Amino acid sequence: MSVASVEENITTVKEALKKALSSTKRGADQCQLIAVSKVQPNEKVAQALQAGHRVFGENKVQEAQQKWPDFRAQFEGVELHLIGSLQTNKTSDAVALFDVIQTVDRPKLAKSLKTEMDAQGRNVRLYIQVNTGEEDQKGGVLPADLPDLLALCRDELGLTIEGLMCIPPIDDEPAFHFALLKKLADRHGLDKLSMGMSGDYELAAQMGAHYVRVGTAVFGARDYS
Ligand SMILES: *Cc1c(COP(=O)(O)O)cnc(C)c1O
Repeated sequence: MSVASVEENITTVKEALKKALSSTKRGADQCQLIAVSKVQPNEKVAQALQAGHRVFGENKVQEAQQKWPDFRAQFEGVELHLIGSLQTNKTSDAVALFDVIQTVDRPKLAKSLKTEMDAQGRNVRLYIQVNTGEEDQKGGVLPADLPDLLALCRDELGLTIEGLMCIPPIDDEPAFHFALLKKLADRHGLDKLSMGMSGDYELAAQMGAHYVRVGTAVFGARDYS
């Protein structure tokens, strides 16, 4: 994969998604690729933009602030998703920068987002992250606490929640977590799911993902050095 260009990788992933969806009732347009650009060099992100891709994911507010205002000035129609955990002292910046925030996971954050969206007059699309593996160190609301968080968001704050997002535990069978996320979404009348990464996006698409978040398979391995 390292010799293939970012453009070729995007084509490959999109073809694989199309193939995965062909065995379902859903059309290829019902699952969108989020190219996860965190830590990747700007040249590679620019290659994706030049190839016409517009939907990207970042997991840190500060890192996204450093690259996306410039890219947005050069390329129209960018849709930017926050897929990493959000501290309430960064909600103002996050609301200003992102089109979609996928990691709403606690009442304090939901309230802070509501306040900021009102103050800025911006309507950011929101997903609730569910900690389907109930891991201590991971963000996301526990499945048992989802009903209360949803009620707070919808009834008390008047927020629209578009769907649910999960990151399965690394060593687990992802299908179990994808199925659980789908079940929770169905139960609460939510129809959009963000699930699936480089190793399992085809499975996620088959199991109902509306967004898959793919980094490595698009840009190559992240270099943290
Ligand atoms: C980094 C990241 C991804 C992409 O992971 P890959 O395995 O590189 O595709 C997806 N989702 C979240 C929340 C991430 O932080």
